[in-house]
Parts: sequence; C-alpha cells; structure tokens
Amino acid sequence: MSAHQKLYEGKAKILYTTDDPEIVLTHFKDDATAFNAQKRGQISGKGEINCAIATKLFQLLEAEGIGTHFIDQPAPNQMLVKRVRILPLEVVVRNIAAGSLCQQTGLPVGKVLPKPLVEFYFKNDALGDPLLTRDRLLLLELATPEQLSQLNSQALRINEILIAFFNKCGITLVDFKLEFGVTSTQQLLLADEISPDSCRLWNQAETDPDKRVMDKDRFRRDLGNVEDAYQQVLERVLGTLK
Ligand code: ADP
Ligand code: MG
Repeated sequence: MSAHQKLYEGKAKILYTTDDPEIVLTHFKDDATAFNAQKRGQISGKGEINCAIATKLFQLLEAEGIGTHFIDQPAPNQMLVKRVRILPLEVVVRNIAAGSLCQQTGLPVGKVLPKPLVEFYFKNDALGDPLLTRDRLLLLELATPEQLSQLNSQALRINEILIAFFNKCGITLVDFKLEFGVTSTQQLLLADEISPDSCRLWNQAETDPDKRVMDKDRFRRDLGNVEDAYQQVLERVLGTLK
C-alpha cells in the first residue's frame, strides 16, 4: 500500500494517507517532547522501539477482545491503522501516584492507590491539556454519556490486561495515557500509541526512585540512559509474548 500526502505531523508521529481512505500510515519519529513541548529533544531509535512496543501491546489487547486501530506494522517505524476521529481526550489510568497527581494533590510519589484512578484530560495544547471533570467533559460535548461510560470501562479493562502483562516483564505499570477514536461507522477504538512515551514503567528489580524509571520521565527529568531504558522495555515486551 503506497503512502500519499502527509495528513498531520504531531510531536511524535506523522500521519500519511494511503490508497484506502479508511486507513492511515503512521510514521513514528525519534523526536521527544515534554511539558507541553517546552522541552524538546531526540531519543535515538525511539521511533522503531515505540512502534514495536505499541504493535505488541495492540496485538495483545486485540487478542483479549479490545478493539484497537492497529492493522499492521509494515516497517520497523511504521504502523498501518484504521483512520478514526480522535476524541479530544487523554484518558489516564493510574495505579500508583506519580507526576501531576502528586503535584496537584500532595500524595507522595509511589503511593499505591486503593483502586485504579481513571482521569480525563482535555487534549488541547493551547490550554495545556487541563484535567476535566465528567460534567465539564459533557458540557464541552467531548464525548457522549455512552462513550464516557465505555471509555471508563475500556480503560479499566486495558489496565488489567497491561498490568498482568508488564508484571510478567518484571515491570510495574504506574500509570498511562490512552487516546480513543471513532470510525466512520461510529465504532469506538483504542488509537494512538502505548509506549514508554505514554506510560510510567518502573523496573521491579530496582528500588532506587531514579534507577527504576524505564519511561519518558528519564527524558523529562534528565536522568540519562533514555535509549537504554526504552530498549530494555522493548526486549522485555518482545521476550514475554509468544
Ligand atoms: P501529538 O503531538 O498530538 O501528541 P502525535 O505525534 O502523538 O501527536 O500523533 C499524531 C496524531 O495522530 C495525534 O493527534 C493522534 O491523536 C492522531 N492519531 C492517532 N491514531 C490515529 C488514528 N487511528 N486516526 C487518526 N488520527 C490518529
Ligand atoms: Mg502524541
């Protein structure tokens, strides 16, 4: 399937049209951004690593009955996906307190939450991706009430599947961000990517709060060895799946 025009270039990926209007080709870049793109850099090899990790995780989720946009990985840094209208929401699931949850609530980093917390953020760079209440989300018509309850249950189910999988990799799934979209036939699908850019992943073999970090926090917090950490996640993810 040949690629055509560039549809959109984001911070981490470029979307291209294909011969089929319902299918887009996603090209994963090595570019890294943090803090709403105020911090920019490159993580060498990230495009291929994240594409491979996302591919494996989408295949895992599909096998567990979750509808995703994934079709194929035609090249190491390319993914063919079903084209969707992305809901302008970042669906965040948290198992352990970290990041903005700690900054905004005072919870200590590393506190295990009594149950998973599902949060919705407005995917809007100009506004700084603010945290939404359910009522604000409905007020802004970012999703219908039915979609909201589907997003909530899908996010929790995905969390269960991913926690179990990452545990087998010796990795603790601290939190992660999901994006969902709607197809031309109104089917709700998991879209975008699941990768060390969008998850907090802690190495279970390390207790040191800096050494255990295997995700984009290494880049955000200048912890060093970013490429090694991403590579390590890839190797563990590929090693565990049949
Ligand atoms: P951003 O800078 O917004 O984070 P990315 O570089 O991560 O963007 O990704 C490019 C864009 O592709 C994002 O806006 C994302 O929501 C969108 N996207 C992801 N999956 C799909 C899909 N299946 N169909 C259409 N758009 C998608
Ligand atoms: Mg993105």
